[in-house]
Amino acid sequence: TPGRFEGRTAVVTGAGSGIGRATAVRLAREGARVVAVELLADRLDALVAEHGDLDLVPVAADVTTTEGVDAVVAAAAGRVDALANVAGIMDGFLPPAEVDDATWDRVLAVNLTAPMRLCRAVLPGMVGAGAGAVVNVASEAALRGSAAGAAYTASKHGLVGLTKNIAVMHRAQGVRANAVAPGPVATGIDAPMRSAQAAGVVGPLLQAVLTAPAQAEDLAASICWLLSDDAANVNGVVLASDGGWSAV
Ligand code: NAD
Repeated sequence: TPGRFEGRTAVVTGAGSGIGRATAVRLAREGARVVAVELLADRLDALVAEHGDLDLVPVAADVTTTEGVDAVVAAAAGRVDALANVAGIMDGFLPPAEVDDATWDRVLAVNLTAPMRLCRAVLPGMVGAGAGAVVNVASEAALRGSAAGAAYTASKHGLVGLTKNIAVMHRAQGVRANAVAPGPVATGIDAPMRSAQAAGVVGPLLQAVLTAPAQAEDLAASICWLLSDDAANVNGVVLASDGGWSAV
């Protein structure tokens, strides 16, 4: 939708690959100034080189660090209208009996604590303006126990809890927060579906339903809709964007 984000500033994490990259590009095409946050600087260089016509502000940062969050806020240079927490990492499908502390701590830091800190950093500005939208990218692993290991599953369930809490706590101040739960998407991550297949926990019915992964652009469309005024009456939901996996 051309112009849907005209005059607005958006922050997208994980903007160097997959769903985050497609979301950053789509928001910018729809008129936003996009602060594109990514751990790996070469991915940002490639993004900016490919889309020189778009208003992209690249920030090479680790969102799990205080400096990283501060750099995002500085690059936004004022109010943030839309925040998409997309950066996330998988956990090797480690079951609870085998998960090591390093995996648990890193997965929780990237998938849950970093989104909380970024929300905490931009929410005061949204509250002050009386408007703003947050989308946190969860997963099928936020809806069930069979899509990933212990750390990833716990982190994405936690992210949904954070999302609903923002929706309730800041509703009266004009802020909306929603989550998107992707099924398998063709990106750089070790997709939950591939891991589930490898771990042998996917049944034949699901195998038949999920014949092909979605594209990152399909998820960007869902995320941008929730960030836009088209979703003005949608707050605190978990939108499954998964081709029907959640109906199985
Ligand atoms: P991806 O690996 O293609 O992209 C994620 C990007 O985030 C990478 O460029 C990575 O470098 C960046 N990143 C990782 N840690 C970071 C950090 N600490 N700071 C800044 N950037 C960091 O993955 P994707 O598939 O596009 O995943 C995006 C989101 O979608 C994740 O939250 C993931 O859990 C979720 N998801 C993906 C799938 C799937 O099948 N691809 C399914 C369900 C949920």
